[in-house]
Amino acid sequence: MHTLADIEKKIQKKYSESQNVTYQCQRCGMCCYKLYNVVIIPDLERLKRENPELLKHVRIRPNHNNTSLVLYFPKNPDSSCIFLKDKNVCTIHKFRPLVCRLFPTEVNNTCPGLHKGSEKLFTEEKFKKEMHFWREYFRLEVYLRNKNKFEQILALYFEDEEQKKNLRTLRNSMLPTALFNIRSLFP
Ligand code: SF4
Ligand code: SF4
Repeated sequence: MHTLADIEKKIQKKYSESQNVTYQCQRCGMCCYKLYNVVIIPDLERLKRENPELLKHVRIRPNHNNTSLVLYFPKNPDSSCIFLKDKNVCTIHKFRPLVCRLFPTEVNNTCPGLHKGSEKLFTEEKFKKEMHFWREYFRLEVYLRNKNKFEQILALYFEDEEQKKNLRTLRNSMLPTALFNIRSLFP
C-alpha cells in the first residue's frame, strides 16, 4: 500500500541523488508511445477553459496494475498517443496534460534526451510539479471511486450525454475489480 508520504520520500530521494543529470529533448516522440496519458482534474479544468473540444477524447480505465481507475487520453493501435502526428509533433502541445510535461521523470528510463545538453533534469520546480501531479492523481482516484463525486466530475467537465453515459458504464463495470491502494488515506 502506497501513501502520498511514501511517494514524496521516493521522489525526494530520486531528486537529491540525481542533481547533476542533464536533459535535452531530442524530439524522438518515444514518450508519446510509452506514456500512460493520464488526465487529472487540473487538466480537465484547463481544457474546459481553453479547449473544451478535447474533453470529448477523455476515457476511463484501470491504471497499469489495476489498483485504481484513471481518466486518460486513448492511444492508437501502435501505442502512439492519438494527438501525436507526423514527425513526432504533439498537436495539442499547448494543452497537453501535466504528465506529458513531466517526462522524463526517471533517470534510468530509455529517453534519449537524458545526459544531453546543460539543462538540469531535476529542478525544484519540477519536484513541485511532480508532487502536484501525485496529489491530484490521488484526489482524482477519490472522485472516481465515489459515485456522487464522480457525477460531479461528469457534470462539471463533460457536456456530451453519450460520453457521460459511456464513462458511467465503464466506471461502474471496472469499479469492483479496482483495489484502490490509497483506501487508508481517503475515507
Ligand atoms: S523520449 Fe525524451 S527525447 Fe524523446 S521526445 Fe520524449 S522527452 Fe524528448
Ligand atoms: S498529449 Fe502530446 S505530449 Fe502528451 S503523449 Fe500525446 S502527443 Fe505526446
